[in-house]
Amino acid sequence: MRWMFRCTRSRRDFRDSNVIRPEMLKVIAVNEQLQVVYEDNVHFDKDLPEFGTQGGVHVHSNKLTVTSPVLMWIKALDCILDRMKSSGFDFSKVKALSGTGQQHGSVYWKEGSRATLHHLTAELPLHIALQSCFSVSDSPIWMDSSTSAECRHLEKSVGGAQELANITGSRAYERFTGNQIAKIYKQKPEMYSQTERISLVSSFAASLFIGDYSPIDYSDGSGMNLLDIHDKTWNEQCLEACAPGLRQKLGSAVPSCTVVGPVSTYFVQRYGFSPHCSVVAFTGDNPASLAGMRLEEGDIAVSLGTSDTLFLWIQEPTPALEGHIFCNPVQSQDYMALLCFKNGSLMREKIRDESSSGSWEEFSEVLRQTPPGNNGCLGFYFEVMEITPQAAGVYRFNAENQKVSEFEKDVEIRALIEGQFMAKRIYAERLGYKIMPQTRILATGGASSNKEILQVLSDIFNAPVHTIATANSACLGCAYRAAHGIAVRSSPVSFADVVKPAQQQLAVTPRLEAEKLYQPLLKRYAECEKMVMKETRDI
Ligand code: ADP
Repeated sequence: MRWMFRCTRSRRDFRDSNVIRPEMLKVIAVNEQLQVVYEDNVHFDKDLPEFGTQGGVHVHSNKLTVTSPVLMWIKALDCILDRMKSSGFDFSKVKALSGTGQQHGSVYWKEGSRATLHHLTAELPLHIALQSCFSVSDSPIWMDSSTSAECRHLEKSVGGAQELANITGSRAYERFTGNQIAKIYKQKPEMYSQTERISLVSSFAASLFIGDYSPIDYSDGSGMNLLDIHDKTWNEQCLEACAPGLRQKLGSAVPSCTVVGPVSTYFVQRYGFSPHCSVVAFTGDNPASLAGMRLEEGDIAVSLGTSDTLFLWIQEPTPALEGHIFCNPVQSQDYMALLCFKNGSLMREKIRDESSSGSWEEFSEVLRQTPPGNNGCLGFYFEVMEITPQAAGVYRFNAENQKVSEFEKDVEIRALIEGQFMAKRIYAERLGYKIMPQTRILATGGASSNKEILQVLSDIFNAPVHTIATANSACLGCAYRAAHGIAVRSSPVSFADVVKPAQQQLAVTPRLEAEKLYQPLLKRYAECEKMVMKETRDI
């Protein structure tokens, strides 16, 4: 039996989405057949009201600073393990465990804490034993956007935003850990100097289990603006730009499938774990989702929820100003990329209401009846400020690339859906993604129930679209990673060899003429986008 736990956001809470839910700690256990045999969660606000969080966080009065109490996370772990014990869960059968934490968040261990971790006594819950172990008691999390000055400084120090992306996989982002550390060093230098080790939420949680500082894994480490994603070491220039002595406080990063230790004696004595139970490096929630969706080389997962998100498996990345490249969590020489499009289902709903009387059936019928390529009409629909690209407003172009103020309703619907998917292909390819003959698109989220929308996706990417269920994907991903982590110790098996292919259903295949039709349109879309960007800048 393997199990994992997760300090979670829901699947929809991708970094740039404004849906807030870093709200609970979850646990699942799976058996040898990877079937879930135990599941539970601790809800931070409801189960631990003494910390006074809303959605698991404290939003500070400036609205930019967002933190979570580190002891709340630890107390949640105590609670969830005690409940498992009370329910009769047999910890001695657990062969391996792993986990995931919300990306970018950071934890600051005070000097002397390593010794405390080494000498935990089974009688005390962790939140009591570790209560004075943190130099910063409120951990900055991914929702924090208070570090703009640090971001500009970091980009300048390495020669610009694109240069930083070339090194670390992303331009500077406020929530990325390096910038958060830089802010703490600047504003609370005494707290920084008292810090012996800085963990990510993921490696912090793994540290609790091994009774020592767990290394940061390559994949979650890529969300810090500090790791050179090519040689997988901390970049000296980035470290220096953020804070002095940082290399030592971070420790070395390791491949995500590394066994970071057995569980500590504390867990053996208090809960009855086997002393041979392996802890596989914990990772970030997006990398864990990629593992949970069982993406394979060349695959794309497209989540069509409130926002649209693309997970890409990439071999030769070309980092860009939009999107993120992370080291791949299941195959460490490869990469994954993440692209978030804020105007997803909400925009589709708006056009549905305006152009097809609020009916998805009518909307779908229009997609069935209208010609692929929309007779050359293209549209950009950004009801809210888009992230990919940074643009706002609605822009329509006729076949001659002239801006027009309106489209017929039918044309409008197809322009919206074609535009949304052309943008996804263009941005994926800019990050180094190559569509291959074996490429599968795995679609999830509310709009993946709409076959006509999926047909447009399939035509534009010229690849078959399958639908998959992704409930609990980050959690499951870590159970699979735990299984893989112990399997690779004895033989060089791939992640795909350990987990069976995901249950998926072929939904649609591309039309024969699709690639020929969309190639020139993709070029035109990119050209029109330049005009849209210029207009947005000029507003
Ligand atoms: P999230 O998890 O981000 O809240 P979901 O993945 O549950 O979102 O997707 C919800 C969205 O799915 C709704 O906003 C709705 O617009 C969209 N949706 C539901 N049914 C359809 C449909 N038949 N066609 C297109 N979109 C749909």
